[in-house]
Amino acid sequence: MTTQVNKYSDVSFWWNTLPAELTTANRPALTQDIDVDVAIIGAGYTGLWTAYYLQKRNPQLSIAILEAEVVGFGASGRNGGWCSAYFPTSIDKLGRLHGAQQARAMQDAMHATVTEVENVVASENIDCDWQRGGCISFARSELQRERAQDYVKHWHDWGYTDADYAYLDQDATNAHGYASDSLGGSFTSHVAAINPAKLVRQLGSIVESRGATIFENTRVTQIDPHVVTTAGGRVSAKFIVRATEGYTPQIKGMKRDIAPIYSLMIATEPLSDEVWSQIGLAKRETFTDFRNLIIYGQRTADNRFAFGGRGAPYHFGSSIKTEYDRNNKVHNSLPGVLAEIFPAASGAKITHSWGGPLGIARDWMASAGLDSDTGFAWAGGYVGDGVGTTNLSGRTLADLITGTASDLVTLPWVNHKSRKWEPEPFRWIGANAGLQAMTLADASENRTGKPSHIADVVGRFVGE
Ligand SMILES: Cc1cc2nc3c(=O)[nH]c(=O)nc-3n(C[C@H](O)[C@H](O)[C@H](O)COP(=O)(O)OP(=O)(O)OC[C@H]3O[C@@H](n4cnc5c(N)ncnc54)[C@H](O)[C@@H]3O)c2cc1C
Repeated sequence: MTTQVNKYSDVSFWWNTLPAELTTANRPALTQDIDVDVAIIGAGYTGLWTAYYLQKRNPQLSIAILEAEVVGFGASGRNGGWCSAYFPTSIDKLGRLHGAQQARAMQDAMHATVTEVENVVASENIDCDWQRGGCISFARSELQRERAQDYVKHWHDWGYTDADYAYLDQDATNAHGYASDSLGGSFTSHVAAINPAKLVRQLGSIVESRGATIFENTRVTQIDPHVVTTAGGRVSAKFIVRATEGYTPQIKGMKRDIAPIYSLMIATEPLSDEVWSQIGLAKRETFTDFRNLIIYGQRTADNRFAFGGRGAPYHFGSSIKTEYDRNNKVHNSLPGVLAEIFPAASGAKITHSWGGPLGIARDWMASAGLDSDTGFAWAGGYVGDGVGTTNLSGRTLADLITGTASDLVTLPWVNHKSRKWEPEPFRWIGANAGLQAMTLADASENRTGKPSHIADVVGRFVGE
């Protein structure tokens, strides 16, 4: 018997605890020039879902996936495991830009996407600890309670019902979980908790078993019309799909297309039944609260907390380095934030800390598109909402590439192009000022109990 060594065990808690059969990363690098129908750059969810649906639409297509590291090395193997219907651009902004019907169609497609992933997980026998427990957002102050009510009313104004987004009073909220100071909250059923690395690693094996070739340790340095350049060889392709999300600025000519922002997480040791009886989350509901600077968590299948937040600085020049995956200030603060929300978890041992870059377009709008003149396709800019949205990307790109007329290819994010990020140092100043403003807004709201206008300024920065 050969012993499998999980070389990537430091990438995240999820990677660290993958079963051995999912860590065998033995795919060769590209060493010669090849010619395929579709070349996909990046083996995260975006690249792999695109391959998956291309194979469904046309099993004859030859597909090469070029991955700088290994399948699931990026955000797809590190995230909080919320497979959600959240879309980074507000439905109001979509309505202003594209009309109410299109805005509504986009959100309906997001809802349907969570169900689509659920169906594929079942039909392909993907073991990724899928649990459709929904998401409970706690309102932990009077201000947050008003925000929760407004949030739900806003969705109802768009025609959704309590079955989609419901305001819950204190008792109904406690039935999901006991957060300190909770006065109520909102609940949506359109979220599932998953083990993200298990999903991405199995997706890789599925598309490979159906004929796609995955080249690992194969970094793409340049993309030209119908040609992709790597150190080991060039790939000629009718279509090229860029699926590199936060890493995009590393590709020649794409420095300002996406800004990589780090999100950071911790995992606790498995907690006892006694502790969980004081916390709840019995259906493995994902959770957050109504503060400004995003926090997110889930109860894992092995009864830990996996908990994360933004707040790490943007790094000058859109730099990405392994050392940025850990940030003492944020990682040291997360256990305290978790314990403050769930006092029963205070003292829980922190067994893992990690992080990774997500991708943000300058106008905060995700997009999926194809330039039919050059055969260049892309998808990304999901901010922190890519686990579900990447599946919609995969189906959309497969339809665009195969020329399939579907409802997906007319959604308002299709072929949307954000303006580029500012050159440095303005990008650094703007991105970090935005992060700082959210932190200040929360501090001010905790102190005064009144809404902070600083957050509105950030809203204007992101075009809301
Ligand atoms: C800590 C964290 C928590 C998050 N939590 C959530 C969450 O709970 N819910 C949610 O919906 N979203 C969450 N997100 C965001 C979500 O994980 C991403 O939006 C999603 O995984 C993006 O998938 P992707 O395939 O587009 O990109 P990635 O998974 O980042 O994949 C890109 C791949 O491209 C490869 N690559 C990059 N450059 C090159 C190159 N030049 N040549 C070849 N290959 C290259 C990378 O190695 C990588 O494997 C989180 C992100 C992070 C970092």
